[in-house]
Amino acid sequence: MLLSFYPGPAKVYPQVSQYMQEAMQEGILSLNHRSPAFMSLCEATIENCREKLAIPANYTLFFTSSATECWEIIAQSFLQEGDSVLHYYRGAFGEKWADYTEKLCSYASKQVRIFRHEDATSLPTNPTLACFTPNETSNGTAINDSALRKLIKGISPAFVACDVTSSLGGVQLPFKLGDIWFASVQKCLGLPAGMAVCMMSPRAVKRAYEIGEKAHYNSLTNILDNIQKFQTPYTPNILGIYLLNKVMQQVAPIAEIDAMIRRRAKDWYAFLAQYKKYSTHGNFTRSPTVLCVESKPAKIQHLKTEMQNRHIVLGNGYGKGKDNSFRIANFPAITEEEIAICKANLANLLVSE
Ligand SMILES: *Cc1c(COP(=O)(O)O)cnc(C)c1O
Repeated sequence: MLLSFYPGPAKVYPQVSQYMQEAMQEGILSLNHRSPAFMSLCEATIENCREKLAIPANYTLFFTSSATECWEIIAQSFLQEGDSVLHYYRGAFGEKWADYTEKLCSYASKQVRIFRHEDATSLPTNPTLACFTPNETSNGTAINDSALRKLIKGISPAFVACDVTSSLGGVQLPFKLGDIWFASVQKCLGLPAGMAVCMMSPRAVKRAYEIGEKAHYNSLTNILDNIQKFQTPYTPNILGIYLLNKVMQQVAPIAEIDAMIRRRAKDWYAFLAQYKKYSTHGNFTRSPTVLCVESKPAKIQHLKTEMQNRHIVLGNGYGKGKDNSFRIANFPAITEEEIAICKANLANLLVSE
């Protein structure tokens, strides 16, 4: 068995194997997605997510096929002519999101002003929408809650959207700070890929209806109309929804998971700090859920290969950090035993350097 510390697709909760069998046996996978049985599964899943992830009661929750689709939906259905959008990012996923907004909003007929920023100096103020990736999976940087609050206060956008793909399910999120939150399920939520969850504030729902964009299969108003009936515009990933519901029933409340993840992160960073030829981000900007470790490319390559020989998969570097970093997922589906094995092997390899 391989031990995976890849930050996505990441280790799936082992119970998922059993849940998949149950989904088959219960016959839910062959049911029409307009049937009462599907609608009640959909409703239960939303309620269990709300309860376990501490999502505000008045936020609308719905399903899409990926975080990438959410980027597209926001550009397509949440922005209109004359709007301005700020993409504030520090890595490859945030940058990709900005690229999609640009392709959908500025090259096309919609003239939306797009600002891109990677640091907090001279940020434009009062954009229609400010987009953040508070946990940047590509390089293990994070904007912690108080920094995010400060940024939003300074920018004073009309609406805030956050891509939380590698933190939803691992840490408690400050939902009230933002209007649109979304995450794919194959990272911190410990599920197979192919689905995402999106949460929207009542003000954001209102704006989506005011804009009323209806030209696409995944137009926001279409999704919102359907989810009111616990349905989806197109046949959804029913297995994905079923598994999410099961995992949400199984996991501890997010406050407990948050404490565990932060404790484990602290231990991981203290462990890594012993090895001076390897560096991590500073205390204020490092992610609790995705650790990025930098060193010389030859060292990184050697370490990854040696660990692979020991059946432990470290995450490759991503984008600009492809050759000079590796990543370690600190996701809740990973066990203390697995972390201990990983650390023992790393220590064994690094001690001689
Ligand atoms: C993985 C990831 C994505 C892309 O997820 P998909 O499921 O491939 O759409 C987007 N944003 C962040 C922050 C990610 O970590």
